[in-house]
Amino acid sequence: MEYKIKTHNLEETIELAQNFESEKFPNMIICLDGELGAGKTVFTKGIAQALGIKENITSPTFTIIKEYEGELPLYHMDVYRLDGVTDGIGIEEYFTKGGVVVIEWADTIKDILPKERLDIKIKVVDEDDRLFIIEPHGKQYEELCEVVL
Ligand code: ADP
Ligand code: MG
Repeated sequence: MEYKIKTHNLEETIELAQNFESEKFPNMIICLDGELGAGKTVFTKGIAQALGIKENITSPTFTIIKEYEGELPLYHMDVYRLDGVTDGIGIEEYFTKGGVVVIEWADTIKDILPKERLDIKIKVVDEDDRLFIIEPHGKQYEELCEVVL
């Protein structure tokens, strides 16, 4: 099952992310892919807002993983720079820490991603139009999509 949703501006993308996060649960894994400037970080900002996080969200540059305290902890990763090499970083530990995990460029570490997760591919359609292709893996994520979308 795959869902397709278009957003027409940044605000709609934030709203889409907030809708997902209103159904949050511990160890929720959201995998984001899409070219530079697609809106992965914008989507993560929406997630953060819905978790009550006031801090500004930026792509983690040198740290790979940034942690924020919210209603649930947010673990925001940008794994682009890893170039697929994940040994010794401990990324897997974050999948079961009870927080919400958002991974930018998740495809580059697909070998270590949990089987149960939400995959979101963002395609740039136009200057402000983005196509979200949303694919749930596992019952919990299928139900999530049914509720939210
Ligand atoms: P990424 O993290 O995927 O590299 P960002 O989220 O940092 O991308 O940047 C997305 C850029 O696209 C921002 O400058 C944002 O203002 C712009 N933008 C335009 N339309 C949209 C939209 N519909 N959804 C999200 N971002 C949008
Ligand atoms: Mg980004």
